[in-house]
Amino acid sequence: MHTGRAPTRAALTAELGVTRATAGAVAAELESLGLITVDSRPGAASGTQGRPSHRLAVDPDGPVVLAAQVHADGYRAALVGLGGHIVATAPGSGTAAADPAQILGEVVASGARLLESTGRRCVGAGLAVPSAVAEPEGTAINPLHLAWEVGAPVREIFTRALAEARISGPSGDETAPGYAANDINLAALAEHRHGAGRGARHLLVVGTGHRGVGGALVLDGRLHTGSSGLALEVGHVTVDPGGRPCHCGSRGCLDVETDPLAFLEAAGREPGPEVSLLERAEELIRTEYDSDPAVRTAVETLIDRLGLGLAGLVNILNPDRIVLGGLHRVLLETDGERLRAVISGRSLWGRSGSVPLLPSSLAHNSLVGAAELAWQPVLDDPLGTLTR
Ligand SMILES: [Zn+2]
Repeated sequence: MHTGRAPTRAALTAELGVTRATAGAVAAELESLGLITVDSRPGAASGTQGRPSHRLAVDPDGPVVLAAQVHADGYRAALVGLGGHIVATAPGSGTAAADPAQILGEVVASGARLLESTGRRCVGAGLAVPSAVAEPEGTAINPLHLAWEVGAPVREIFTRALAEARISGPSGDETAPGYAANDINLAALAEHRHGAGRGARHLLVVGTGHRGVGGALVLDGRLHTGSSGLALEVGHVTVDPGGRPCHCGSRGCLDVETDPLAFLEAAGREPGPEVSLLERAEELIRTEYDSDPAVRTAVETLIDRLGLGLAGLVNILNPDRIVLGGLHRVLLETDGERLRAVISGRSLWGRSGSVPLLPSSLAHNSLVGAAELAWQPVLDDPLGTLTR
């Protein structure tokens, strides 16, 4: 039901492989927990055959989780319900100070105000950060576009901020445990469960944030995070050996050659101090791609570099779908034909050029993914977590 696969009791019965009576009991239990609604009125959407099946839906007034995202250009908090629905969101502003406690305190306070204004029950909290997060420590080990120190214990700081703001956990009487993970990993999880990645078995997600490039792989529904949370650092695939120096110590990485700043430089534009680099790059393509040859050339340059990087990844990972986010989504939508041609020209016998390439489809997918972290214990055991 969370991923939309069981809109009716008949579908729930089929998905669970249980009897009608058992599926009915499960639905009734979830309804009594306030998670879903069961509509048995005549005229409700019918099952595949025979009598109409009860219609199941996420309870629009059900519990939510607090989702938080910190990025190079500021932060955003949201309340996210079951089904990945964003119930309310409030953008933040300002840049991340050197002390992570400051911005995490601000984003949690912003989420607390949303909870107060909506009156919704909170059952957990998740955080997306633009850094690999080492497991099991919960530390941000390469917060490259933030002034945080390497190894900042973000999960611990987030959890402390939740306690200070009195954000409750699943059973309502304890503080929400804080979860934290890399923003692109979380975007991939969200796209797999609710967006353009639904149904893919080997889903590769690549995208830019406001700065830099990240990637993630979802295998059979689970994020492939490697032995310590650091797998799929696709941003450091070399796409131009003589290119810009990268903060990783190499040169010409996807990270510095295909992100919004690289695009603005390729187009000969000043980054501009006051707006998000990602928004500025997207706006420039939307408004001047057709009229300004420099913008068109910059798009082609970035597509060629991105295609080179994707071809290498396709050869190694053999995904059955690729979803592109951030600026890469805009590049795909602007000239997908060119991007596909570059990939197929450089991948195994050209066959990998046929991998479906889709734009990400969720607004704020990292936030929705952060919410997935917080929803997971409830998804695993609704009765046990909500009524403990
Ligand atoms: Zn690099």
